[in-house]
Amino acid sequence: MPKGVVYLVGAGPGNPDLLTVRAKQLIESAEVLVYDYLVHPAFTHLLPEGCEQICVGKRKGFHSKKQEEIQEILLAKAGEGKRVVRLKGGDPFIFGRGGEEALALAEAGIPFEVVPGITSAMGASAFSGIPLTNRNTNATLVFVTGHEDPEKMDTTVDWGSLPKQNATICIYMGVANLSRIAGRLSEGGFSMDTPVACVEWATMGHQRICRGQLGTISETAKAFGLKAPAIIIVGETAGMSEDLSWFEKKPLQGRRLVVTRSQGQASELSSMLEKLGAEVIGLPLITISGNVNPKTAEDVFSEIASYDWLVFSSPNGVRYFFEAFFKKFEDIRSLGFLRIAAVGKSTAKEIKKYFVSTDLVPEQANAESLAEALVATDSLDSAKVLVVAGNLGRDVLLDKLEEARAIVDRFEVYKTEQTDLSENPAAKMFREQGADGILFTSSSGVRSFIDQAKHLQLSGDALRPKTISIGPITSATMKQIGMPVDLEAKEASLESLVESVVKRFGK
Ligand code: SAH
Repeated sequence: MPKGVVYLVGAGPGNPDLLTVRAKQLIESAEVLVYDYLVHPAFTHLLPEGCEQICVGKRKGFHSKKQEEIQEILLAKAGEGKRVVRLKGGDPFIFGRGGEEALALAEAGIPFEVVPGITSAMGASAFSGIPLTNRNTNATLVFVTGHEDPEKMDTTVDWGSLPKQNATICIYMGVANLSRIAGRLSEGGFSMDTPVACVEWATMGHQRICRGQLGTISETAKAFGLKAPAIIIVGETAGMSEDLSWFEKKPLQGRRLVVTRSQGQASELSSMLEKLGAEVIGLPLITISGNVNPKTAEDVFSEIASYDWLVFSSPNGVRYFFEAFFKKFEDIRSLGFLRIAAVGKSTAKEIKKYFVSTDLVPEQANAESLAEALVATDSLDSAKVLVVAGNLGRDVLLDKLEEARAIVDRFEVYKTEQTDLSENPAAKMFREQGADGILFTSSSGVRSFIDQAKHLQLSGDALRPKTISIGPITSATMKQIGMPVDLEAKEASLESLVESVVKRFGK
């Protein structure tokens, strides 16, 4: 059997955009993924189908797997000939025990590679606007652990001997011992008024910064409610002007929002919210996959040029339609002279990706308005209309078009199924932490949220989210199910939804 390989990969401090290009490539081709608690759930969207996922969740008080067990897993999976990605928070060789894992692999003769990641001190520095060095004040930089490995008996950090002049000290794993560490540093000669900044959940949408001085930081942090994970930065630059805190100034920074999405689909909404500083949990409630019956496709495509209208009721429909289309044809001109209708702007945008423009988009993005807009063109009598749909499409569109005497064919190109959320990292994060808001962009999203409710029960101290709807149809479904609608977008579009969220939750 060919020998497997293990990649020890740094995932960066948490923000999924801070993954390196190499890390992304490796995750996208992994056969087994072994990951830590601090690794962001968004990475699972990158995984190829069928990749085995093993969470070895290291968390204070929650050592779900011992270091030796983790190493055994790596050896066993590589021994099976697998391509294993061992994804670790930050950088694998900085306080991450990556060195021990590499050593175990080397001793077992298993090929391995190490991919650096942005270590959390660097993430904390950049995203808090606190430079770690400064020509006038800091020439030395120290990374130190504030939590000694309980299994390690010998060394302890000699806090008194750390450089005091012109130095910045970045403390990892220091929250629980903060008062003791601050005491040791000041005993060792650090002045009580040395600036300190504690950056909690650095680089993430819910990052918080607690600023203070060495003499009082322990009380300040207690009042602030500082929790791990955090990087504690001690030194003159920690007291630099807050003008540099570019990230904290984003309107949705500090907000955690849930977006329901389908498995494997890059969410446009997520990236719009993330750009505004929000922490987004993408809950993959449903799995959407192509579902084209070859016989139906043959029938549809053999007479494609005879249709008068081609109607799309979702971006997924567009994607899977064109996937099937280009399996059959090489040239977009095979579509003929038909006119194209899209239910809304997002669907039209998806069509545009194929260099095709849309002839009709109704004012409101829903099936009724689409039907009305088509009827208003006065072109439906005896016209052939192809409606591209999923397995759950609503019949309202077809009925109305048929009432207007159109000859309607329904072409099903994709299907929607429930995702298994029991072990899903994004669902886990939601259960444990909750969110400020949860955004629903479709009735089917609402229904699948309710269908999956047993996997989405919030823990006792998780934040209870407000429910946010993209428009009247989705709101109606929410109300029907007995869910409150705390906020509804002005217009049924992603842009308007984001605007309403910023208005309600923004700084
Ligand atoms: N290898 C990791 C460090 C692992 S030790 C790295 O290079 O960053 C775990 C510690 O890292 C935490 O206790 C905390 O101090 C720090 N840490 C990890 N993620 C963090 C984050 N998003 N924000 C602040 N600190 C973080």
